[in-house]
Amino acid sequence: MPDGILILGGTGEARQLAALLVGAGCRVTTSLAGATTWPLLPEGEVRVGGFGSGGLERFIGARNIGIIADATHPFAAQMSAKAFAAARNCGIAYVRLERPAWQPAHGDCWRPAKTVDEAVDLLPEGAKVFLTIGRKSIAPFIRRADLSGMIRSIEPVDGALPPGWKALVERPPFSLGHELALLRDHAIGMLVSKNSGGMQTAAKLTAARELQLPVVMIERPQKPEAATASSAEEAAALICCDRLA
Ligand code: NAP
Repeated sequence: MPDGILILGGTGEARQLAALLVGAGCRVTTSLAGATTWPLLPEGEVRVGGFGSGGLERFIGARNIGIIADATHPFAAQMSAKAFAAARNCGIAYVRLERPAWQPAHGDCWRPAKTVDEAVDLLPEGAKVFLTIGRKSIAPFIRRADLSGMIRSIEPVDGALPPGWKALVERPPFSLGHELALLRDHAIGMLVSKNSGGMQTAAKLTAARELQLPVVMIERPQKPEAATASSAEEAAALICCDRLA
């Protein structure tokens, strides 16, 4: 019987799940994309880098994997689609661990966008924005000559930024005081965020509410229909009780 569990990681929830499953005596390997220079490493085995074409199916066979626990970031749509297809091709179980999306609270002024390009189109002429969407999604914003602002990312942005833009390299969690100071000090007029969910980066939304700043919120991409847990504990229970199809 394939007894290995492959966690597709890159999130705090993936590390929590690895710790729970290793603690329960499971054979766990976490796969990381390799996008972060100094990733926080989970318990159990770790492999790093994309699988390439057919590589995930080969890895499943070679390592006797019986379950894929997809705990990638909610916006990692390609990896989730690939993992779902590989699980189906290999006849093994697939479960997703995905933290709940943020919901607007009283006093919030959110403008929903389906895509990054739609978010760019929602920004008014001359807006000074705080971009917290990952360094790989900034191109269409900095192409608009009338926009300016601050870009925050875990890894430095590639290349030089146009005049009017500043880059800030910081790793969450961020406190409310930190976020309020940042928005005030840089005279930010609007926030752009992906709806990543979770507590680590939620303070920016509270800060925007307190300062009455509008937020362009990019909605999550569609992921495959599958058994989904919203916490590491729930995912571990699903996996350990073997309640997966
Ligand atoms: P993706 O676009 O779904 O994946 C692109 C490729 O990266 C995959 O096809 C795969 O390459 C490789 N990959 C991704 N996750 C992997 C994993 N766990 N193990 C091995 N290979 C993996 O996902 P993404 O590039 O990671 O991220 C997409 C978006 O999600 C980003 O633009 C970002 O906004 C967001 N994100 C945010 C955070 C965060 O902490 N805020 C973290 C991750 C992602 P192969 O096809 O070669 O197998």
